[in-house]
Amino acid sequence: MIELRSDTFTLPTARMRAAMADAEVGNDVYGEDPTVRRLEERAAELLGAEAACLTPTGTMANLCAILSWIPRGGKLLCGDESDIYLHEAGGASVCGSAVYAPVPTGADGSLSIGDLAAALPEDPDDPEFAPAALICLENTHNRRGGRPLGPGYLAGVAGFAREHGLPVHLDGARLFNAAVSLGVAPAELARHADSAQFCLSKGLGAPVGSVLTGSAAFIRRARRVRKMLGGGMRQSGVVAAAGLVALAEWPRLAEDHAHAARLAAGLAGLPGVELDPAAVRTNIVIFRLTGTAPGHERFIALMRDRGVALAELGRGRLRAVTHAGVSTADVDRAVAAAAAVLDEAAARGTASGAVAR
Ligand SMILES: *Cc1c(COP(=O)(O)O)cnc(C)c1O
Repeated sequence: MIELRSDTFTLPTARMRAAMADAEVGNDVYGEDPTVRRLEERAAELLGAEAACLTPTGTMANLCAILSWIPRGGKLLCGDESDIYLHEAGGASVCGSAVYAPVPTGADGSLSIGDLAAALPEDPDDPEFAPAALICLENTHNRRGGRPLGPGYLAGVAGFAREHGLPVHLDGARLFNAAVSLGVAPAELARHADSAQFCLSKGLGAPVGSVLTGSAAFIRRARRVRKMLGGGMRQSGVVAAAGLVALAEWPRLAEDHAHAARLAAGLAGLPGVELDPAAVRTNIVIFRLTGTAPGHERFIALMRDRGVALAELGRGRLRAVTHAGVSTADVDRAVAAAAAVLDEAAARGTASGAVAR
């Protein structure tokens, strides 16, 4: 199966498995796992932060950040298409008693300063308003096709946040993809946020884990929240070892981006596919089907029959994600499979005299 549903399907490489087998470990809840410490130090260094904390998942890293920043009843300003708002089971309000203030998401994944300002309480001193407490940004933006947010935009939001005394958390599940795409160091993106998290388990290819970064004081608070949420993992050097390999090999993500561009160009050339290849900047390709093409659920099933797994993103959108497990030949096979499925559907449509709608 050519697995394009997600970059979370990557399998640990031989180097990762060897590093995991040989990892020196200890009890990380006591701060005594040397491999976890090395991973946290390396991650902090790469993101230009004082400290870092390994978590089991990106969802938990985001929740640790939110609960560390927001007092009960505080407002969380986040994108209405963000992972934090849509795909994390409402954790900020369930566990943190925070109030979500969803802000319209731009086509490039950005939140405009005007919309952020409109989400602030009109009169911060009026006791009837929930106080704004945190701004969350997503980089790259998953539901906006992996678009990266650049340092200029991030600096603008940081300035706005400072003006209003608000911290900024960066959900950088794919922060290294953003850095590779923009040709900047990850620290150049993370430095405009007060905390950031990235996933080791997506394009970076490790089997498990995310890392949360920030100031030493912030990470001390986050470690307490992590323990409360059940994320204190003991001999987690076994997974940190794979993460360290991932952090040595991240420039490899450029290959995934080239594969996504190739896939986008191939799909965009097919009749019945609606896709703007210029919008594909990292490893995510989002497209729609039109005309005589089968419905998206049928299309996914027919592609699966031909050995290609795609994901549905809701509202008729389809998602294909490239990663280390997808080769150039796989991309070409996926495009050929889509061409064949669409060809057959068009032929059937003509034969039955169906009107394209
Ligand atoms: C995957 C993802 C997360 C959550 O990470 P998990 O490790 O799956 O919990 C958070 N934010 C974004 C943008 C993601 O793509």
